[in-house]
Amino acid sequence: MSRLVVVSNRVADPRKVAAGGLAVALAETLNETGGLWFGWSGNIVEGGTPGEGELHTQQAGPATLATVDLSREDHDSYYQGYSNGVLWPVFHYRVDLADFDAGYIAGYRRVNQMFARKLLPLLKDSDTIWVHDYHLIPLAAELRAMGCRQKIGFFLHTPLPPPLLLATIPQQDWLMRALFAYDLVGFQSEVDLSHFARYVETEAGAQPLDRHRFRAFGSTLEARAFPIGIDVDEFAALTHAQEARDTYASTREEYKRRRLLMGVDRLDYSKGIPHRVRAFRELLAQYPENRHSATLIQIASPSRESVDAYADIRRELEHLCGSINGDYGDLDWMPVRYIHRTIARKRLPGLYRATQVGLVTPLRDGMNLVAKEFIVAQDPADPGVLVLSRFAGAAERLKEALLVNPYDTHGTAQVIQQALQMPREERQQRHQKLLQRVRDEDVHWWRRSFLQALAAAGG
Ligand code: ADP
Repeated sequence: MSRLVVVSNRVADPRKVAAGGLAVALAETLNETGGLWFGWSGNIVEGGTPGEGELHTQQAGPATLATVDLSREDHDSYYQGYSNGVLWPVFHYRVDLADFDAGYIAGYRRVNQMFARKLLPLLKDSDTIWVHDYHLIPLAAELRAMGCRQKIGFFLHTPLPPPLLLATIPQQDWLMRALFAYDLVGFQSEVDLSHFARYVETEAGAQPLDRHRFRAFGSTLEARAFPIGIDVDEFAALTHAQEARDTYASTREEYKRRRLLMGVDRLDYSKGIPHRVRAFRELLAQYPENRHSATLIQIASPSRESVDAYADIRRELEHLCGSINGDYGDLDWMPVRYIHRTIARKRLPGLYRATQVGLVTPLRDGMNLVAKEFIVAQDPADPGVLVLSRFAGAAERLKEALLVNPYDTHGTAQVIQQALQMPREERQQRHQKLLQRVRDEDVHWWRRSFLQALAAAGG
């Protein structure tokens, strides 16, 4: 088995379960192959030289972690500027929020070049390299230019928008050309893959060789959808552990006979949180029986607060929640509990399980893992209902959820009402199918599928 080299913007210690996400997904293969995980250290060096950063290496069991510091200038242009101020909004269809003119591209190129330069001497000929996400699209092209011949795969955790939206990025041609330095490119959904296929045809003037193989810019690559999952066994174990049980009991005690609706997100404009809160207001207006008897808990963890669009969404949400509580609240009932905080991971399943209606209603999302966590945390005998945006990647496979268009406030309120009234038997049937799907396509299945396809690609 070839050694796995993972490259992502941030690196986490795969021995720590609290690291969550990618660390849990990759730990097994990193450990088995004595792998290497490379990325930014999280350190910002004030006054540091752009394009330079100290390399730190440390052992994490059988795996090695290698991280590089970023100068302030590189951080502000590569990370905050181009990655989170241009690519993130455009990839989530928010061209209106993208800051195209600030010259961030130079920093984005510079940091990708530096990563390639620092990584190259650490590589062995037989390595398999797996690069993650929009921060690092040009990394393979930079490595190839320095002579790297190893297999390199790329997975995009965000959506890929349709060609004409991609075309708004001034450097779109360069970016998409850079993708062709990879042997395999993975997307979250079939929709993202279809956008890529159309891009290749309409903008790069190339024909697909077949449904999954594309030739353009003198190279051939394979592209497929690999919907990411969660570690179902780990999350099920968390659900049954003491901390989650305590949280479940105290939440039920606090809200007594009230029905709970819950949203858990990073405070990001892609998550559709204000739209969700407006749908809840519509529910109270249209179906007055829910007044006093239903409470929306919205937990939104602080995120990217120095980017303007994030400060704006925070203000909008505070205003909205305040006005609903003022208009509808009573001495003994607060309609919306808005909590601007990160909840300890061990408590989350208890909250999900205490909830009658899980609201996962992003305007656009690559996958959305909260939807999958919510399903795993439910009591199969009396499960809550998942209301899921059709614009989340998760909706492609989770058809037994109640799908909504989050832009349609009235329609979403109707579906929430349907969820609140759903008979137990129907809830059980839907939950059983959803849980099976989340189990079948868990994070280990995702990792294995991608790495098998990468091993076979181009051979
Ligand atoms: P994204 O990666 O865009 O933030 P996902 O839904 O794919 O969205 O993943 C979010 C992860 O972060 C999930 O594991 C979820 O449990 C966790 N999370 C999100 N918001 C919070 C919060 N407020 N408190 C604790 N954990 C959170």
